[in-house]
Amino acid sequence: MSEMNDVTIVKMERQKSIALIAHDNRKKDMIEWVKVNKERLGKHFLCGTGTTARLLAKETDLPITAFNSGPLGGDQQIGCRIVEGNIDFMIFFWDPLAAQPHDPDVKALLRIAALYDIPVASNQSTADFLISSPLMDQEYDRKIIDYAKRIRLRTEAYAENQPLS
Ligand code: PGA
Repeated sequence: MSEMNDVTIVKMERQKSIALIAHDNRKKDMIEWVKVNKERLGKHFLCGTGTTARLLAKETDLPITAFNSGPLGGDQQIGCRIVEGNIDFMIFFWDPLAAQPHDPDVKALLRIAALYDIPVASNQSTADFLISSPLMDQEYDRKIIDYAKRIRLRTEAYAENQPLS
C-alpha cells in the first residue's frame, strides 16, 4: 500500500481474489457463465456466498471457498474481506426483480465494493467484458480514498470546535 495525495494505492495481483454471488433467480445464469469461463476463472482464487459457492463447486469442480449463505451474513463476510484487502473482484448477479430479506446487506456490499474500487459485474455482459480484459492477468493499482487522513482531519476539526476541557 502506498499513499498519493488523498488516495491510497492498493495493488491488485495478477492472481485475483474473486467473489461469486448469485441470487436464487440468477444462479442458473451464474453456473452457465462460470462453466463457459472455467479456464480463465481457474487461474484466480475463488470464493462466494454459501449456496452459490457450493453449487458452482459441484457443477464445475473449481475450488471455491464458501462463506455463509447470503441471507445468513455471507454478503457481510465478503464485504469485510474487501475492507481487509483479501477480496478484490466481484461477480454479483443480483436479482433486479425480487426483494431480498437481506437487502440492507446487499446494498452495504455494493457500497463497500464501490468505496474500495473493486471491479463489480452485476450482469452477464459486464462479466464478459471484465473476464476478457487484459487487466485480468496483470497487476493493477486500485485507488482508494484515504479515509484514515479524512478521519484524522475530521477529528482535528471537531476537537478545535468542541474543546473537551
Ligand atoms: P447464497 O447467497 O449464495 O447463499 O444463495 C446469495 C445471496 O443471496 O446474497
